[in-house]
Amino acid sequence: MSQDCLFCKIARHEIPAKVVYEDDEFIAFHDINPMAPVHILLIPKRHVVTLADLTDADAAWTARMLRLVPQLARENGSSPLPEGGFRLVVNNGTEGGQEIDHLHFHILGGARPWSKRAAPAA
Ligand code: AMP
Ligand code: ZN
Repeated sequence: MSQDCLFCKIARHEIPAKVVYEDDEFIAFHDINPMAPVHILLIPKRHVVTLADLTDADAAWTARMLRLVPQLARENGSSPLPEGGFRLVVNNGTEGGQEIDHLHFHILGGARPWSKRAAPAA
């Protein structure tokens, strides 16, 4: 947990968010600036910065986090697989486009067709 981290504050309910899911380990909420009709952020309540900070000790909860993704995509309006679907984006570090230094999954859906390539900015 980090005192000044925006997403830790959301996890502690110190900053309001449109929460769609919560349990002891995770909280999911609507992105404040959605890039698609479905744009949910899923975060662990523990303060982890990037995927590079994970170790074998994190295997169990990261698997639980991954398994929440299709559930949250469906519950929040993405069309069923396989014809429908969703995109999972995890930005890591400055060049990866990460602006908030607390690991978060972007669950994106409801718009198609999605580009096969996420082109870097020109
Ligand atoms: P990233 O660029 O991967 O770090 O993504 C950060 C995301 O957090 C962006 O899509 C922002 O729109 C979103 N965001 C920033 N502040 C808030 C907030 N208070 N509530 C919900 N989403 C937020
Ligand atoms: Zn944090």
